[in-house]
Amino acid sequence: MIDLRSDTLTKPSRGMRAAMADAEVGDDVYGEDPTVTALEARVAAMFGKEAAVFTPTGSMANVLAVGALVAPGQEVLCESRAHIVRAELGAHGALTGITSRTWVHPDGQVDLPTIREMYAPDMGMYFVRTTAVSVENTHNFAGGAVLPLADLKALRAWADEVGIAVHLDGARIWNAHVATGTPLVEYGAIADTMAVCLSKGLGAPIGSLMLGTTEAVAAARVRRKRLGGGMRQVGVLAAAGHYALDNNIDRMTEDHANARLIAEACGVDPASVPTNIVVVDVPSAPEVVAAAAEQGVKLGAVGPRRVRLLTHLDVTHDDAVNAAEILARLLR
Ligand SMILES: *Cc1c(COP(=O)(O)O)cnc(C)c1O
Repeated sequence: MIDLRSDTLTKPSRGMRAAMADAEVGDDVYGEDPTVTALEARVAAMFGKEAAVFTPTGSMANVLAVGALVAPGQEVLCESRAHIVRAELGAHGALTGITSRTWVHPDGQVDLPTIREMYAPDMGMYFVRTTAVSVENTHNFAGGAVLPLADLKALRAWADEVGIAVHLDGARIWNAHVATGTPLVEYGAIADTMAVCLSKGLGAPIGSLMLGTTEAVAAARVRRKRLGGGMRQVGVLAAAGHYALDNNIDRMTEDHANARLIAEACGVDPASVPTNIVVVDVPSAPEVVAAAAEQGVKLGAVGPRRVRLLTHLDVTHDDAVNAAEILARLLR
């Protein structure tokens, strides 16, 4: 089976498992797990942020981050298919009391003129106040789209002008970094808070981090505990993260090349596939998913006539060539 349903499906490699087995650990709720503490400091430094906190999932990192910026009853603006409003089961509203409004962009991009129009300043007790804008890079449901740094910088400059915050959902920021060569600190510089995942293309079995100021991260630690996310000897998991950062960032270029190869075979312009996600319009998604599975390729349906496939660490070049042949035959 060549499993292209998601880049979360990777299994920890032998080397990663060895690193996990050897991890030095302690009780992280007491702040005594050296492997976790080192991972938090390491990732914060990679993005030029003051501090970071380790979380089990990217969803929790997003909830902590947006919750650090937006008070209950205030709003965050984001693109209509953003993970925070489409795929976190209403967590920001249900758990933090945050409201949202969305702009629509076919490629998941920052639309600053529209954002400026949507922005609601503090009007006392009459209107919901905008306190943050959230952007997603790469944009998952826009096919792994990369947000150009220039657009992010323009958003940052405007946010500073009006005095609101910017959150960056960087679950796949590594893919954006590898695809464009943009230094990670440049991404860190446009955001007040960030969420990054170790369990997507980087191949760790679990783990994300929320990044921000020392103050925001201290508040996030309290919230994480309140959500039941105070974890104990999780250095074994943080060790997987260290291993992933050491070994699995630069190799993502292979995932991106494999994605373009498969895209071309599916009749999708490879130039429209900047990273590791390919979205293909088909006559019937359930039929294509079933037929592909029968021939050894697993895909995901993301609409009645749309399938999505992702390349990752556990998809070799040969797998990609095989999948491309199978899908080309099937879609013809
Ligand atoms: C996967 C993902 C997350 C976090 O997902 P979890 O499954 O909660 O780890 C957040 N944002 C984006 C854009 C994602 O793709």
